[in-house]
Parts: sequence; structure tokens; C-alpha cells
Amino acid sequence: MRPDTKTKRVKGKGCPVCGKPVVADSRPFCSERCRNVDLGRWLTGSYVIPANDEDDETDSVPRE
Ligand SMILES: [Zn+2]
Repeated sequence: MRPDTKTKRVKGKGCPVCGKPVVADSRPFCSERCRNVDLGRWLTGSYVIPANDEDDETDSVPRE
């Protein structure tokens, strides 16, 4: 038994949002837009998406 090493395709066949070819620059999405769309789906109703992350307190997140 030998795996299909010939088929070196990207898992998921491209952008999970719109299905377009994925650009390495914005993997795993085809563009920053789709990335935000997907992100919004995950965060919708749960978190607030910060417009600008200027605060430098990512390391001081309280965790119990
Ligand atoms: Zn897309």
C-alpha cells in the first residue's frame, strides 16, 4: 500500500469561505476579506472584534 504522493492538493480545496484558490499570503483563505468573514462567523455573538490592536497588553490577559 502506498499513499498518493502524486496528489499534492491543498486540504479543503481552497478558501473555506468562498472556495476560491488560496493565496499563500492569506492562507488558509483566498483573501483578507474572507479571513475576516470566517473570523466573524466564529466570533459572532461571542466576542468583539477590535478594529485596531494598538494596546500592548496581549501578555497581560488575566487567566485563571
Ligand atoms: Zn475566499
